[in-house]
Amino acid sequence: MYLFLKYFKKRIAQQTPIEQRVSYGILSGSVGLGSNLILFILKIMIGLFSGSISIITDAINNLSDMLSSGLTVIGFKMAGKKPDHEHPYGHERSESISGLLISIVIMFVGLQFVKSSLDKIISPSALRLNTTVYVILVISIILKLAQVYFYRLIGKTIDSPTLIATAKDSLNDVFTTIAVLLSAIIQASTGWHLDGWVGLGVAIYILFSAASLIRTFINDLLGHQPGHELVEKMDDLLQTYDDILGFHDLLIHQYGPNMIFASVHVEFDSNWTLNQAHHVTDKIEHDFWHQAQIHLVCHIDPIDINNQKYAKIYEAVQAVIKHYELGLTTHDFHVEELVNGDKLIQFDVVVPEHITTNDDELLVSINHDLRKILGQVTAEITFDHNYIGDDHSLI
Ligand SMILES: [Zn+2]
Ligand SMILES: [Zn+2]
Repeated sequence: MYLFLKYFKKRIAQQTPIEQRVSYGILSGSVGLGSNLILFILKIMIGLFSGSISIITDAINNLSDMLSSGLTVIGFKMAGKKPDHEHPYGHERSESISGLLISIVIMFVGLQFVKSSLDKIISPSALRLNTTVYVILVISIILKLAQVYFYRLIGKTIDSPTLIATAKDSLNDVFTTIAVLLSAIIQASTGWHLDGWVGLGVAIYILFSAASLIRTFINDLLGHQPGHELVEKMDDLLQTYDDILGFHDLLIHQYGPNMIFASVHVEFDSNWTLNQAHHVTDKIEHDFWHQAQIHLVCHIDPIDINNQKYAKIYEAVQAVIKHYELGLTTHDFHVEELVNGDKLIQFDVVVPEHITTNDDELLVSINHDLRKILGQVTAEITFDHNYIGDDHSLI
């Protein structure tokens, strides 16, 4: 297997990193498809021959693995398919849709086998066990162990959470089949009717894996919190630009593992020309695409860093905000002098996820507290409930 992978690596050496990822994904899916099909056929045969409900249920478990492998192949193929006129955001979510449908089917099959196992517990029957049955169970344990090794290796090579999860699932299957084998041996030597109970255990295991898959696919479709690593990667990359003063309001939209759209507010010295700022944002967007395959759009926020006149107002705002001890932060700070001499203070307040205080209440009390310090001022506040990343604003 190691030699085969070495050969495969050599063969795809000419491809781009994205193409290599697709090739590895399709390879692992195809291997899973083939090996799980073999496992299913072998086990369903000995299951029907011996009349063991636990072996048949275990075979069905392999059938569901085969379907997910097929899905992996389709998923990686789709990821390689370019966006088109009708689907400008690509086709990667089709993997979640077919995955959801398959998981629901698996769930019904699991329920069916819970029922069959219960029947078997109520009215147990003798099993026809012979050497072939044992040998095939042992072979299937070895094959599953090989899958664990294979998925782990490729999963680490292309850094794919899906494949690493598949490796974990295969390892669980190893234990399942060991349980089936042990129960067959015990039943044959002692006559205890364990078959129905082990079948029930395997069926419940199928139900749980199907439920957790359904959850994952629904989360993918609804749009979930982007992975911590992705946010950190973007933060790190943004922090490498010395020309910008800070950034905030990072938003990420994912249409699949390889289709990432993002936007961020980037802070510039307000004395810069529009051309200067645009030049830098263009470079940032370009870098994000070439270094991380992320479609980033930057919004430009001018910051008046040399204005001493409003320093006192800024400090008052910070003092008021800190005083609440809610972990609030601010950005996009602007002061406007109105015709009647009053001051309009505009800024955004980032409200952490766990804070339940109402925005309107906060607005009223911030205004109230600011007037106590500054006199006749009005604060116009935009409340940000951004659940992604930290605030990296200058002020
Ligand atoms: Zn902003
Ligand atoms: Zn532009």
